[in-house]
Amino acid sequence: MKEQESSAPESAESIKQLFQKNVVPSYVRFDLVLVRGKGSYVWDINGKRYLDMGGGIAVCSLGHSSPDITKALTQQSKTLVHVSNIYYHPWQGRLAEQLSGLIGPGKMFFSNSGAEANEGLYKLARKFGHDEGRFEVITALNSFHGRTLAGIAATGQDKVKKGFEPIMPGFRYIPYNDLEAAKAAISPATAAILIEGVQGEGGVTPATPEYLLGLRKLCDEKHLLLMMDSVQCGYFRTGKFLSYQRILEGVPGGESFTPDAVSMAKSLAGGIPMGAFWVRQPYGDLFTPGTHATTFGGTPLACAVALKVLEVVQRDHLVENVREQGAHIKSELERMSRKHPNVIRAVRGLGFMIGFEIADGIQAFEGKAPGPQFVNRMHEAGLLAIPSGTHVVRLLPALNLRPREAAQGLKIIESIVSELAS
Ligand SMILES: *Cc1c(COP(=O)(O)O)cnc(C)c1O
Repeated sequence: MKEQESSAPESAESIKQLFQKNVVPSYVRFDLVLVRGKGSYVWDINGKRYLDMGGGIAVCSLGHSSPDITKALTQQSKTLVHVSNIYYHPWQGRLAEQLSGLIGPGKMFFSNSGAEANEGLYKLARKFGHDEGRFEVITALNSFHGRTLAGIAATGQDKVKKGFEPIMPGFRYIPYNDLEAAKAAISPATAAILIEGVQGEGGVTPATPEYLLGLRKLCDEKHLLLMMDSVQCGYFRTGKFLSYQRILEGVPGGESFTPDAVSMAKSLAGGIPMGAFWVRQPYGDLFTPGTHATTFGGTPLACAVALKVLEVVQRDHLVENVREQGAHIKSELERMSRKHPNVIRAVRGLGFMIGFEIADGIQAFEGKAPGPQFVNRMHEAGLLAIPSGTHVVRLLPALNLRPREAAQGLKIIESIVSELAS
């Protein structure tokens, strides 16, 4: 251990070098070193301020350094941080009750990440179908379900599987929003269908109401579990607790739609790692004692913070904020797209999950993937957003983004669009 290396004055260069030497290079990282945050702003090591409309990829639901989260964290850390799941504690049951109250009669299991929450769903499907020899889970092309071995098997994108073969068996892929394809894919081995309500990594594509209602009917007829990966699109981001609730709002038959299982993570505890899945009764009792477990899941600290996030979402009317501002941001982007279709080809999404697709052929991008290139321009102008695939830029801001912050972000985007168009 070379002492002077870790105590050397920190510069962007030295921090990047520490990563290059010591951290597995599995990420394509942007050239940004972030050191602190407040609300929807973060600062880099040189003191430059950025408006964060990426929210840590849909994680920081109350923004950065939220005083509410700080208070919940400090209070809980003085009371009880961790006890094993072989004991009871007051916070987990309370959180489970509140979350089920937002979905439907069912039971919760708490984990630490989205991939791990989804693992629970694959295991649920297998347990459910086991006695009939059914095990297969149908998922969608362009989906994303996490980076564990089963997660990359479930994900309908070849790029996450490459180099990790043999891929775990038991998954079958169908085009998204295509009900006929779902019908055709069902085999005697099928146990479940798993989809995202809004595909996130796949380019911000919402499910259609007909697709959701059709899948529900199909799963009922064929006795399959309908499972929703709500890791990114859940947690009020679309202007309802879960995205299917938003998509089916006002749609005949929509109010009685309930999936059989839902996975969550990202925003659940506003930045404290936490995942969870909900299972509709009676299937919530399929995981009998000894069949599923985790050390850290549902720890008092994470549960206390998640309870606080729920409280603040209500107290500060954040659902209304997401709906109003989300609609405004989307309509402004659509206006830019109509004006400059050669830069913004399409706009999609709901609430604070908005994607805009950058066109091919933008000269300044010299044939490189336009999504990340556009994001680089945003960074230069002091705005953070998240690329999705090669062409889409995602806005996933904190649920408490203020109107003037949204206006500032839109102004930056518009100036980049105008510059690229000319
Ligand atoms: C991020 C994400 C995951 C994986 O979550 P991790 O916490 O990174 O394991 C799974 N599904 C969807 C839809 C996601 O967006």
